[in-house]
Amino acid sequence: MADSIEGRVRSGVDAFLRWLPRWEIGTSRARTRVCRLCFGSPVATAAGFDVDVPHSVQHALLSRMRVIVDEEVDRYTARNLPLVSRELAKAEGPELPGYRPDEGLALEFQGLEIDPPPEPGQPFLFTLAELAQEDRDAALPLAEPVHPTPPAAYSEEAKAALRTELELADDHARAVGTGVCLALVEHRSRIADAIDRLVEPQIDDLLSELSQALENPRTR
Ligand SMILES: [Zn+2]
Repeated sequence: MADSIEGRVRSGVDAFLRWLPRWEIGTSRARTRVCRLCFGSPVATAAGFDVDVPHSVQHALLSRMRVIVDEEVDRYTARNLPLVSRELAKAEGPELPGYRPDEGLALEFQGLEIDPPPEPGQPFLFTLAELAQEDRDAALPLAEPVHPTPPAAYSEEAKAALRTELELADDHARAVGTGVCLALVEHRSRIADAIDRLVEPQIDDLLSELSQALENPRTR
């Protein structure tokens, strides 16, 4: 596992570094809620990100690392944990049709809010989230009726077996996460160099523009 994780982390970092030159400070939005992927993430620490690195930059790398962990855990589950695999297949159910603005996005943007934060006194005509909800509501009556499978009565033995498999899945996810972090540490200097070159100057420019605007407020 270690070899493949290292190789995939390397490719993930390569892809992130190829994307970073296209990042512009103006395109990063202020968030109104904490990002579940990035907040307090040990992966961000492993990458060497500090609080000065803008969230959209951190998110772009962490999204790629999350995919590595998810895919590895999925593979392990499919191969070794038949009970968990069956429960997951049951929980997935049929796909509903509809407009989903948050799907099929480039990795750099997955998990970010789809609408910009509202500004006071500037109401939106519509938001993407509202459109998606309306579309889902409209599609629901037309969709195939969903028959939820009634929860099967599990024997104590089956429950215990499922619990054991869930623990194995958790252990594996933790091990993969640790592997990703350890592999990522090897790329810290490459990441730091790119941040210094491509991100820091943009932050410096913005800060100097701001301080100039504060020092020389335009008289009206
Ligand atoms: Zn994030």
